[in-house]
Amino acid sequence: MNLAHLLARTARVFPERPALLLGTRAISSYSGLARRVAAIAGALRGACGLQAGERVALLLGNCPQYLELLYAIWHAGLVAVPINSKLHAREVAFILEDSQASLLFSGAGAAPSSPAAAMWSACVPRLRIIAVDDGDYQRLATSEPIAISAAAPDDLAWLFYTSGTTGRPKGVMLSHRNLLAMTLSYFADVDQALPADGILYAAPMSHGAGMYNFVHVLVGARHVVPESGAFDAAEIIELARSLRQLSLFAAPTMVRRLVDRVAARGGDGEGIKTIVYGGGPMYLADAQRALAVLGNRLVQIYGQGESPMTITALSRQHHADRDHPRHLERLASVGVAHSVVEVIVADANGRSLPAGEVGEILVRGDTVMQGYWHNPQATAATLYGGWLHTGDVGSFDGDGFLTLRDRSKDVIISGGANIYPREVEEVLLQHPAVAEVAVVGRPSTEWGEEAVAFVVCRPPMTVPGGDLDQLCLQSIARFKRPRAYFFLAELPKNHYGKVLKNELRRRFMPPGEN
Ligand code: AMP
Repeated sequence: MNLAHLLARTARVFPERPALLLGTRAISSYSGLARRVAAIAGALRGACGLQAGERVALLLGNCPQYLELLYAIWHAGLVAVPINSKLHAREVAFILEDSQASLLFSGAGAAPSSPAAAMWSACVPRLRIIAVDDGDYQRLATSEPIAISAAAPDDLAWLFYTSGTTGRPKGVMLSHRNLLAMTLSYFADVDQALPADGILYAAPMSHGAGMYNFVHVLVGARHVVPESGAFDAAEIIELARSLRQLSLFAAPTMVRRLVDRVAARGGDGEGIKTIVYGGGPMYLADAQRALAVLGNRLVQIYGQGESPMTITALSRQHHADRDHPRHLERLASVGVAHSVVEVIVADANGRSLPAGEVGEILVRGDTVMQGYWHNPQATAATLYGGWLHTGDVGSFDGDGFLTLRDRSKDVIISGGANIYPREVEEVLLQHPAVAEVAVVGRPSTEWGEEAVAFVVCRPPMTVPGGDLDQLCLQSIARFKRPRAYFFLAELPKNHYGKVLKNELRRRFMPPGEN
């Protein structure tokens, strides 16, 4: 089924319901949105001359046009290529070239006449660029509407470029079926969504936040784009207070910023229904603080572009179940398998390991990608033996809760023993002066590798490395403790808030190798 039917259906059932808001201002109803979508789709296939299956890239910050463009693309039988708007022009050029996009919708700062646009057009000669704040764009919405194109379940809907914390991004091929399965599993495993709810696009719509649109289109809820178009804790607090029942997706680093802001104002996150967090590790100390400040509004998901938003979830109930004897272990876990996928922890030969044993996390089910776009080698290295090999390492407990250790490439092997940086980071974060930390391996002539920690202190506090060493000695094996502490003002992160451990490791490479 073409995902565009989700919007058409809701527009028929609830035509007058508010669909899109910019800040607190209503912009369109569901019927109005569906009308514009059908007309823009008509322009894409008509005036723009695109054929079914062609790629249309979106290089936009969060804005109301995002949603209508996504649906117009699917309505017209085309493939959406959402690109993070904060990428460098050269990184954008790589994605445009790799995806062979025919059309690019851009925002302010990337007008068709800009130097960046000239570079993109040189890379992809057929590329046409339309700025969404331009008259050309407005004219698209006055075109003759068309009917929704037929789509087979495995037809490509969204080419999702990985955030590329290492190497070049790869185009994850997500089909209509993949995204529909992801959507239905939200209701089963993440949260209920109701017509009176709203989804607040505070994290980039090119990533997980945008993927949660389907859930809210399906039930006829409001889609709220903050005026800043970005993650601004003060703005989120105000919008939630005035619009009520808002849910949002946020990376753990964003949750931390929101919690700090709410706590500083003595609030409790009033008006926020649910914060779904994931995309990177949520440390136990941060999860406890978020629960204490925001109350029972948290759900965690673990996923990756290759099985979007859908591998495991830690439900609101599990967050709140403080009386459970293993509550803290559960809070430090990523929860249980989503109902639409099978998840196992496997040894190097792909054999399923029993509870308690650590191995690679493998996934299969309807959310798993079709492969990497035009990259059979990477596809074969990731999808084999019937499973998606996530590259993440972890273990199940006897109750089916999965605890992630690290990406396999982040594991430190010191004197032949494995050190999982996450375990050391969890300990260091218990110190009240430590705001953020990243543990990585540095080459050691004696041990092969040894752990070192990069620490960001909570201003104005500071902490001597010796105190952190003591803390580690109290809770983890001696060989796991960091051999050096480096204090930074902030950790290097990518545009989705993920810590760039490669950049930290690079500091220890001999000159010329980095
Ligand atoms: P991406 O494909 O950019 O969304 O990155 C996916 C990766 O982020 C996963 O393979 C994990 O390594 C990490 N990740 C996602 N969700 C979580 C989570 N809840 N806890 C820890 N790491 C996570």
